[in-house]
Amino acid sequence: MANLPRFVFFKGKVMPYADAKIGLLTHALHYGTAVFGGLRGYWNEDEGQMYIFRPRDHYRRFLLSAKLMRMDVDYTIDDLIGFTKELLRAEGYRTDVYIRPLLFLADEVIGVRLHGLHPELAIMSLPFGTYVANDTNAHVTFSSWRRIDDNAIPARGKIAGAYVNTAFIKSDAELAGFDEALVLTQDGHVSEGSAENVFIVRDGVLITPPVTDNILEGITRRTVIDLAREELGLTVVERHIDRTEVFICDELFLTGTAAQITAVTRVDHRPIGTGEMGPITRQLRELFQQVVRGKHPKYRHWLEPVY
Ligand code: PMP
Repeated sequence: MANLPRFVFFKGKVMPYADAKIGLLTHALHYGTAVFGGLRGYWNEDEGQMYIFRPRDHYRRFLLSAKLMRMDVDYTIDDLIGFTKELLRAEGYRTDVYIRPLLFLADEVIGVRLHGLHPELAIMSLPFGTYVANDTNAHVTFSSWRRIDDNAIPARGKIAGAYVNTAFIKSDAELAGFDEALVLTQDGHVSEGSAENVFIVRDGVLITPPVTDNILEGITRRTVIDLAREELGLTVVERHIDRTEVFICDELFLTGTAAQITAVTRVDHRPIGTGEMGPITRQLRELFQQVVRGKHPKYRHWLEPVY
């Protein structure tokens, strides 16, 4: 059995994880009718403090995902942050963690629909390190799968059922020996990674697909755009990216809460730039680690202390 959390926030309180039970007819289990989030808590050893990174932005997206799914949720962003802190304090972690809030349609009924059903909230957390193996020199492939389209299942929502698309992409890439995959939109533009947004550097300009290219509107993506402009003085452009631009770009990296900033140095056996992590990726990675651990005063407002 994998490592399990000791506690969960469920039915309005922190309880032992083992005591939280749901029935096999639970709607979300059959139809993927759940939305989730993924946050990180970063341990700052010097301060003896854990910082949750941009919880306000994560929980705003969480509630918007719920809205897409017609879920009536009474909780506010402040409520959700409070529950998360309560849970993390119960766990008492003194290490980096991943935080997983989940809202699922909890009715035990047969029948696919969204309306007239009741969401239940659960929040869990676990110690967490790196997500993408080789995050300084990842080898990535172009998936043969396409990204789900906004008119099928909106990728801008973090909807459980939509992650079957991610699972297809990720498993085929890993079983073929790659660390990750890039996935294209139906019309053949670069959309994102299986669970990361993507950036390329061409002639010193940072380029990333727009939110209308079936991407998840990533919090790390937004963070990188801000840091690149503010701290590195870079021009950042949101536009379609052609598949072949990936083969000739100078640098390429993936961003995500789990993946953080993952340098990609090869795509389908072609070297990206020099074939080693580039200077802009390196600078952004270093800056990012300072920011998330509370070592950059200017960005302390993105952090929520737990203890
Ligand atoms: N795209 C997808 C499909 C994802 O699942 C994630 C991870 N949440 C991301 C992008 C990155 O988003 P964020 O930076 O908010 O974690």
